[in-house]
Amino acid sequence: MKDIDALYIPEIREEIVKLGLKPFAASQIFHWIHQKQVRNFEKMSNLSKENRELLSKSFFLSDLIVEKHQRSKDGTEKFLFKLHDGNHIETVLMDDEDRKTVCVSTQVGCPLGCCFCATGSTKFARDLNAAEIIGQVEQMARVNNVVFMGMGEPFLNYDNLMRAIRILNSKDGLNIGARKMTVSTAGIPDKIIRFGKEGLQVRLAVSLNAANNELRSKLMPINEKYPINELVHAIRQYNKETGRRVTFEYVMLKKINDNLDDVEELAALCDRVKANVNLIQLNPHDKCAHEPSKPECVRAFKEALSEKGIETVIRIRRGTDISAACGQLKGRP
Ligand code: SAH
Ligand code: SF4
Repeated sequence: MKDIDALYIPEIREEIVKLGLKPFAASQIFHWIHQKQVRNFEKMSNLSKENRELLSKSFFLSDLIVEKHQRSKDGTEKFLFKLHDGNHIETVLMDDEDRKTVCVSTQVGCPLGCCFCATGSTKFARDLNAAEIIGQVEQMARVNNVVFMGMGEPFLNYDNLMRAIRILNSKDGLNIGARKMTVSTAGIPDKIIRFGKEGLQVRLAVSLNAANNELRSKLMPINEKYPINELVHAIRQYNKETGRRVTFEYVMLKKINDNLDDVEELAALCDRVKANVNLIQLNPHDKCAHEPSKPECVRAFKEALSEKGIETVIRIRRGTDISAACGQLKGRP
């Protein structure tokens, strides 16, 4: 049986005409799945009974099962989903007055092992398929923003990521604006360049965390493979191709990368590309040996960057009490 909920309309069409259905039923099926979130062919009431049975026999609709649901005192919600093969992932929902943002996982665990990240300390199991990525958004009601910043490295699962983005963006689906979606990467240069050529207005964030190779390699082993110069080269191409800047994410680690010398290096790096900076306070977890920078230190760092003309914001911490904040997702029951 084939998974139908990760297919584009023309692909559904191709499959169903083989079964003898009319081509136009493809968009009806797509609407049921992606707009109405119907997970059962029997409920697709504008299809004949015979066709509904035919579809049930030929395709399956994957389901994410909520195994645990927690709510933080700041309103942030965290979902632990069980996948069909028994693996688990986590998804975070942030509901603000004017917008609802879902933070989506792209892999079960993460193979990149950054030393400050809880996901990186878990065992990597596999990539999510496109349906599992889309499902995390479709299970939440009325989402306006999607950030691919949950478990895993999105650019190591590039094709499924792009398929999910296109289906979420589709007018026939949830119609989430491309500019309302942000992909965060640890920095895979060839994928950054390719992403810039997709012709989509999806935003890009790059987890920098250190502005020199020695320190960055210590914090993020992927830097050994793709050092800062290669990253800069890729971002410049992305900037040129899209006309857009990237956001550098910078997790503040006490006495590691929060010194005023670090500001100089980071500012110099920002001058080589078009970028703004998001400072993130380290969210502690039991596998992390580092401590968060002092709040006054984060503020001073921000001021110093702003004085150098680099747009900088401090990202607000969310859901730490339920381990739902950046870098705290482990995907365990
Ligand atoms: N793999 C991708 C996306 C997921 S991580 C990436 O690395 O970009 C999303 C963000 O969380 C990254 O910017 C990362 O630097 C940050 N992060 C990881 N661990 C953290 C922690 N313990 N505290 C705060 N932020 C963390
Ligand atoms: Fe993976 Fe991103 Fe965590 Fe690094 S910060 S281990 S790339 S999820």
